[in-house]
This record gives sequence, C-alpha cells and structure tokens, in this order.
Amino acid sequence: MKRRWPARQLWIYAGLLAACLALAVLTDWTSFASPIDNYAYDLIYRAYPPHDWPPSSAVLAVDEATFNANGGVRNLRGIVADALAALGPAKTKAIAIDVILPDPGDPAVDARLAASIERAGNVVLSSQLAGGVWEDPIPLFIAKAKALGHVHPEENHSDGVGRRVPLEYSANRQRRWALMLEAFRVAQDAPIVESIEDVQVGSAVIPARRDDRKGRLMWIRHRPGGIPTVSLRDVQQDPSKLELFRGKTAFIGVTALAGRRDQVLSPVTGDYVSGVIVHAQAFETLAQNRFLTDASNLNVLATCAAVVICCGLIFVFLSGWIAYAASAFVVAVSHLVPVLFFHADVVFPFFAVFASAWLSAACAASYQHFVVRKQLLATQGEKERYQQAIQWVAHEMRSPLTAIQGSSEMMGRYALSEERRKQMAGMIHAESKRMARMIQTFLDVERLSEGQMEMKREPFAAGPVVDLCLQRVAPLAERKNISIHCDEPIAGSLLGDRELMEYAIYNLLTNAVKYSPADTHVFVAGAVRQTMLRISVTDQGIGMEKKEVENIFRKFYRTEKAQKSGEAGTGIGLSIVEQIVTHHGGKIEVISTPGKGSVFTIAVPLAEAPVAGSNKDSSVPQRV
Ligand code: ADP
Repeated sequence: MKRRWPARQLWIYAGLLAACLALAVLTDWTSFASPIDNYAYDLIYRAYPPHDWPPSSAVLAVDEATFNANGGVRNLRGIVADALAALGPAKTKAIAIDVILPDPGDPAVDARLAASIERAGNVVLSSQLAGGVWEDPIPLFIAKAKALGHVHPEENHSDGVGRRVPLEYSANRQRRWALMLEAFRVAQDAPIVESIEDVQVGSAVIPARRDDRKGRLMWIRHRPGGIPTVSLRDVQQDPSKLELFRGKTAFIGVTALAGRRDQVLSPVTGDYVSGVIVHAQAFETLAQNRFLTDASNLNVLATCAAVVICCGLIFVFLSGWIAYAASAFVVAVSHLVPVLFFHADVVFPFFAVFASAWLSAACAASYQHFVVRKQLLATQGEKERYQQAIQWVAHEMRSPLTAIQGSSEMMGRYALSEERRKQMAGMIHAESKRMARMIQTFLDVERLSEGQMEMKREPFAAGPVVDLCLQRVAPLAERKNISIHCDEPIAGSLLGDRELMEYAIYNLLTNAVKYSPADTHVFVAGAVRQTMLRISVTDQGIGMEKKEVENIFRKFYRTEKAQKSGEAGTGIGLSIVEQIVTHHGGKIEVISTPGKGSVFTIAVPLAEAPVAGSNKDSSVPQRV
C-alpha cells in the first residue's frame, strides 16, 4: 500500500536514518567493531580460499630435532651458519633469516656465520624493536648481508591472528622494510619504489596505502597448501631434500618451541604457527602478485548509505508483513556485501554494513509502526468522528427544518389570517432558535470530548431545567396522546453547564415519547440522595433486552424494535447524554423490560454553592 507521509515526518525520518548510518560507520572505526570485522573476515577467508599456486619460497626449520643434534639453543648461531652452508648448492634466490643476532657471541662462531652470510651473497637479516630502539644484528653480520628487514607484527594486533603485515616500520627515526619485502627485493633484484598509495618491487605493485595511524599494512593471502617446510636436521641427513629450495627464496627460522621467539595464529587453520611461516606466507602474497585491498572510506559510506536508503524506502512505500519481509531481505543481502567485495579482492568492513542494515531496518520499522501508523489511525479516527458528527447534525436538524419549510410554504402559498400568520412566524422563529441552540450544544460537546473546552461550572437549579424540557417535549407527546407526569417539583441544584444538562434531560424525554406506544404515560421524578440528585424518566414503551441496554450508549447503536417502530434516529443522542453526565461527575443507569418499558436515571452530584436558578435560557457556554 502506498502511503503519503507529511513532509515534516519525512525529514525527521531521513534524519533518523542518517543518524543510524553515521552511528554504524563511526562505530566501525572503534575497537568495539574490530573483533567483529576480524571474525567475519576470517569466516569469509576460510570459506573462499584462493586457488593454490606453486610456492616461491620454503622454510628451513630449526626444530627440536635440529637443536637436539646440534648443541641446543645456545648454538643457534652455529646452527644458522650450518643452515646457510647447507643451502649453498640449492642456488636460492634469497635467504631470509628470522633470527635476531644482536650481541657478539663466540668470535669463532660469529666469524663462521659472517663467512657463511658472505658466501651466500643474498642474505636478509632481521631487526626487531626493543624498547623503541631497533635491535639490529652486529655490524659484522650487517656488513656481509644484502639487506636488513623488520620482523615486527601488526600494531594493536589484539587477537594474535596474522592477517596483515606492516610493510614498513619506523622507530627512532630509522625506517625498516619488512623482512619478507627485503627478501623479495633481493630475489627480484629490483629496487623498492614507494608512493603514498602503493609500494612497487619489480613487477609487484602492492596496494598498501601509507597510514600514519596503522602504518602500511598488507593483507596476507595465505597459500592454501601452506609453505613447504623442511627441518635442517632432515636436510643434514638427506641432502636430496635441498631440492625443495632450488631457485626459491629460503626462510630460516626457529620452529622448535624452546627457541621460538614469536608465534602467530593462522586465520586459515586457527592454529599457532611460528613467525617465520607468516613471513613466508606474506612473501608468497607478493610473489603471487594478487593482493587484497581495504575498501575506501567513500566506498564503505556509499554502500552503507545504499543499504540504509533501501530500508528507509521500504517502510515509506510498503507496510505490514510485505515491508518486514522486504527489509529482512535487504538485511540478509547486506550480510553478503563483504563476501561480494571479497570476490573482487576488496576487504569490506562487515560491522559497518551489518550495523547499517539492522539499525536502519529497526529504526524505519519502529518509526512506521509507532509514529506514522499512530498518526494515520488518529487521522482516520478524526475522519470517522467528523462523519458521525455530520450525521448527527443532519438527523437532529431534520425535524425543525421540516417544520420551518412547511410553515414558510404555507405562509407563501395561502392567504392566512393575521393570527395564524403570527403563530407560524413564531413557530419558525422558535424552531430556528432551537436549531441554533442545538448547533451550539453539538459544537460544545464536540469540543468537550476533544478537550478543547472546559465545561462551564456554574451552579444552576435542576427543577427549572426539567420544566423547560417538559414544555419542549409536550407537543411531541400530545401527538401520540402520551401524558407526561412530573408530580413533585424537582429540588436541588447542580454544578456545571445548564445548556448541556438541558440537552441530556430533553433527550431522555424525547426517547421515552419516541419509543412508547400512543396513549401511555411517562413519569419524571427527582430525588436527592446524600450528595446526589437522581432524575429518572420512566416510560411504558417498547423496552429493551439486557444485551441491548449494554450497547445503547455506543454511537449509532439502535435496537431492532426501535428501528421497526420507525422512530429510531441515528443512535447518537444517548452517547452524548452519557458524555454530558460524565462531564458533570455523574452516571446514567438504565433498567428496561422488553415490551413493558424503561427507566433512565441520571445521578449527578449536587452543587454545594447556593442556587442561582432561573427558568430563562442561559447564555452560550463559555469557551476557554
Ligand atoms: P436515537 O434515539 O436517535 O436512535 P439514542 O442514542 O438516543 O439515538 O438511542 C439509542 C437507541 O437506544 C435507540 O435507537 C433505541 O433503540 C434505544 N432507546 C433509547 N431510549 C429508549 C427508550 N426509552 N425505550 C426503548 N429504547 C430506547
């Protein structure tokens, strides 16, 4: 169903949705969202692994067996020298050593290692940060090495999963490229060329934007088959295993728990792997020359805005279950946005689009449900009330209008005696006055029920009001030969609106006459009981069933018998009577027996103030 929303409401709605968008996108930049983004990334990453490729690197692992056979952790330098010597025949493109060699050791061993580094001619050494200062290898080794690379993990890398590596790292005004990047440079024999947006080494252009906050991060695309890894011990025992390294880049690092410096969780397997494996995986990403990039802020904002707009439009143009189903569809599809981007090698933050979709759908649905629907219902109710009011006016106006029409027609058409003419003019005057009063009463009751007007609160004597009603109803009763008895004068005074009370009593009297057969009696009585004045109207008319009595105060309700009698009106009178009595702090009671008659009693509180009653028409009710 198409709905029209007022412009103001549309603006508020758009504002709320924009707030949802801002909240979702801004929260995505906080640490609150990163675990969610990371978790989603890992799920997508595992669900859509890349096709395997021939490895360009291999790891020569210094494992437990190597330590056991070569003098333990204390002989690590000797072991590294042995590893370099062992790799000699394999003609590797580059050798990255993920072992920190900061302090001078046994001079003989250091000399042997330096000689091995020099002989290999393509060695990249590691440097790590310690207390904000680069902990470099001793100058002897640096002099023989081809390059120096950092082995620092991603900053603020809370969950320990190796998803990204910082390509560069600066400390103490010295910058180091990553170990694997230096190894790649040596292997490619090409310089590192950098710009703000990327880093180029030979044919590989790495889309890693320089970011002061996060550094220059590169997503690691892990090789599905893993990195071929051989223990140095195995190579020592079986030199044919060296073939694994032929023409590739070798990474030498400790995998034994005893000497392992760093370990990282693999996003692929969820297991701990040693740092050297992660460096090799990052190297494979370079060698493969296929990179994952972060979605730009503009891209994230535009995508999230599209999702929010979709959810917003759904609830403007649709409603009910169709709107809920459509928004559920948009929310479901939005979960897949990061997957779609991932297939285009773009890492899209899951939280931003997820939060945008859920927040905007919830906000749009609530807004439609609580605000727009409520207002639409209110407008509908207003319309209904208006229609009822029109019907009431039409109904109540009919009889005076008929009388006026008839009389004026007679006056125009026939030559009437002066006395008759005067009589008719008087009647026309009286009826038109009655109509004016009726309109006023009607408007006042309407305003009262809308809360726009406070009821007049003046003391007035009840007796004269009842008398006036009796006079007014007399012609109606005469026509049906119904006699109205009011034997005792009605005492007591009320506090409220005299006009309205007159309307209420008159309505009860006309009903009693209308719904009674000819030649019957109607009794009117008043009684003061404690603080209440009870005025009852008893007839010998058609009466009502108990069930019917329960409904007569509902607007438009008319009993079947009343309709058959041809007297029934619109069924609004009593609902107004009830409102008037309630506004006076009283209540109305009905006792009725079908075929025998009814007793309508109104009980209203007496005024404490002295009576200022009179029989003349009081003024128009005062408005506030
Ligand atoms: P209206 O008389 O214009 O139809 P009311 O609201 O005054 O509207 O009355 C509602 C209905 O209650 C009437 O249509 C009639 O069926 C029933 N009713 C009211 N007064 C009496 C009565 N004195 N005796 C029998 N039925 C009555």
